[in-house]
Amino acid sequence: MATQTFTNSEPVRQAELLSGAAVAAQIKLEAAGEVERLWKDHKVKVCLAAVRVGDDPASAVYVRNKIKACEEVGINSEHHALPANTSSGELLDLIASLNERDDVDGILVQLPLPAEIDSDKIIEAIDPQKDVDGFHPVNVGRLALGRPVFAPCTPAGVIELLDRSGIPIAGASACVVGRSQIVGRPMAQLLLQRDATVTVCHSRTRDLAAVTRAADLLVVAIGRPGFIGREHIKPGATVIDVGMNNVTDADTARKLFGADADKRSETIAKRGYTLVGDVNPAEADAVAGRRTPVPGGVGLLTVAMLMRNTVKAARLRREKPGTGNR
Ligand code: NAP
Repeated sequence: MATQTFTNSEPVRQAELLSGAAVAAQIKLEAAGEVERLWKDHKVKVCLAAVRVGDDPASAVYVRNKIKACEEVGINSEHHALPANTSSGELLDLIASLNERDDVDGILVQLPLPAEIDSDKIIEAIDPQKDVDGFHPVNVGRLALGRPVFAPCTPAGVIELLDRSGIPIAGASACVVGRSQIVGRPMAQLLLQRDATVTVCHSRTRDLAAVTRAADLLVVAIGRPGFIGREHIKPGATVIDVGMNNVTDADTARKLFGADADKRSETIAKRGYTLVGDVNPAEADAVAGRRTPVPGGVGLLTVAMLMRNTVKAARLRREKPGTGNR
């Protein structure tokens, strides 16, 4: 990982920060309005069912944040927290009952599931009309065809952030680093659908920096703290950092955060960790035109887009039943 030394006399350049918080707040406000309209139009109280298996602390935090967001926008929520020894059969029974219930509009199964459970089988059991995460093969297929109903929340949130920040996508040279089913691949599909020229990179990409440096729009989702440095970024590029990693030692924080290092070291001393993206923020600041911060960037948008998908699911099921199944 390349590092950069900062001295008191050195002027610190700062890329423009793209606030996920402001855009997420707007999206949640719009979702709250739609919750009210659904009540007026159909006497429907929108409901999201969240399913979590086991004791993974990160998953518990993610589900808690999603339920808190439901409260903010007026969506009812149910939290099904199941023990780690839950069998696939028991989980499939729960999904089947949530599929059946008319009062449940969205179903989300928090990943990862315990290793003994076949996640694909569980995701495929969700009714595609209630698949508000957009992970069911029907929804993945619709996205690939350029006819998404429920696009996965994180990449859909990135598109919203770009649009609402006035950053042009059509014709831009876009590079997505990472090809996971939940971020990289759907991100590439959505950018392509919006007429960007898209390159997808992964762990086998040769000379990664040469490829990423050609991009006007660089989206990174690899799960490696501060991996993308100055040499990966085209001057003036927009850098979207999807990564969320915990850094626990002050030395690493110092290398990554430049002028912000003292604050981050304090956070580590207080909480035991600080949240870091896949992009080295100090180095990105030296060359990028704009970048998303971590925290305060893409993570907030993911939850906001989940709210949007849930109200969309509620309306579609009342007004166009079967959408998403065909
Ligand atoms: P993942 O499933 O582990 O996939 C990582 C991807 O990165 C893989 O495609 C892998 O390539 C690629 N990769 C790994 N090392 C690389 C390298 N050195 N050079 C180039 N590519 C490399 O991860 P994910 O679920 O997409 O998550 C990625 C990050 O985003 C994580 O930090 C995660 O916590 C975060 N995340 C954030 C949100 C949010 O709401 N902000 C949501 C989801 C995920 P191969 O395919 O070749 O292995």
